[in-house]
Amino acid sequence: MSRLRERLIAKIEAEGPISVAEYMTLCLLDPVDGYYPTRDPLGSDGDFITAPEISQMFGEVLGLWCIQSWQDMGRPETLQLVEYGPGRGIMMSDILRAAKLAPDFLNAVRVTLIEASSALEAVQAKTLADAPCPVSWASDIASVEPGVTLIIGNEFLDCLPIRQFIQKDPFAGAGGWQERMVTYEERQLRFAVSPVVISETVQQILPAAQSEAKTDELLEICPANAQILDQLKARFEDNLGRALFIDYGPEATEFGDTLQALKRHEKVGVFSDPGNTDLTARVDFGALVELAHKIQLAVTPPVYQREFLSKLGLELRAVSLSRAKPESKDKIGRQLHRLTAADEMGELFKAICFQSDGLMVPLGFRDIL
Ligand code: SAH
Repeated sequence: MSRLRERLIAKIEAEGPISVAEYMTLCLLDPVDGYYPTRDPLGSDGDFITAPEISQMFGEVLGLWCIQSWQDMGRPETLQLVEYGPGRGIMMSDILRAAKLAPDFLNAVRVTLIEASSALEAVQAKTLADAPCPVSWASDIASVEPGVTLIIGNEFLDCLPIRQFIQKDPFAGAGGWQERMVTYEERQLRFAVSPVVISETVQQILPAAQSEAKTDELLEICPANAQILDQLKARFEDNLGRALFIDYGPEATEFGDTLQALKRHEKVGVFSDPGNTDLTARVDFGALVELAHKIQLAVTPPVYQREFLSKLGLELRAVSLSRAKPESKDKIGRQLHRLTAADEMGELFKAICFQSDGLMVPLGFRDIL
């Protein structure tokens, strides 16, 4: 039995059931027994794989996107380039390599990494040891030096803790939701529904689609999203800035339980081995757009990863890489397929961008709302 499981049981027995968000936070980020702080989870030997780990082309075309964004923001002499949840630092390393094409951009860049796991921070430091620009770490965006800011995050939002609610009385509208909790019964960690309805404060942060729920439908919200968007809004009011997130999830709010655990690339039960499996949930892009509207933060409608990468020239990059390395042509073709095919990452994954008022539509997107 994992030590974290014992600690969770002791906590629940002493204090009562905990929210799904609290369960996720402890499993993923507990400094002693949590998933991220105690290992390097990525890659083919790890538990899951991400786009930058699949192919160097992903970070390289994002490098072009960063250069274009720097130009869109007036080619400032200093650019704060911030990455949320950088994993092993591979994407940043590919971005900076591609940016060698634009020495003025590289001269301007100061990289800041926002990483919750000290184990991964050490891996990032190694990957970026020879970076062609200064690299430092910060705990949040507010502590990054002021100045023109470009923010990126790949598969970061999906590991932020979610809360889950179940509609028990649709006639009561927002007042019919009860929270799904994690409890310990019959010697098992399991879900249970809180007997009380959620507070009015929580009712107010549900996405608009909540009103369409039928009895027993489940809705997820990610409270950290609102905090991050508030921080972006504040930052982009004082400093010209743009933030790009790429992740998996639906365009509009959907009902249903999407919490999942992965171990060695296989789905496992979310209570099977707390602290030793990756836990994520789909990102609700509809809710992100809604939140941005609420605080008047300029946002693009989400676009498919396939469309976004294609507009950044991914296919051309694949052709030129294959020419340079003919022996890897098949492998490069397979990587391209994984990143863009509709039955792989092409459509489930989406890109979304937030930015200061008055900036043009970012490369790869169609519109600003
Ligand atoms: N972007 C990388 C890694 C994705 S995994 C890639 O695409 O390969 C998620 C990353 O977010 C890990 O680096 C994890 O440690 C980090 N992370 C998770 N929760 C975080 C939080 N609350 N604050 C900062 N980083 C976090």
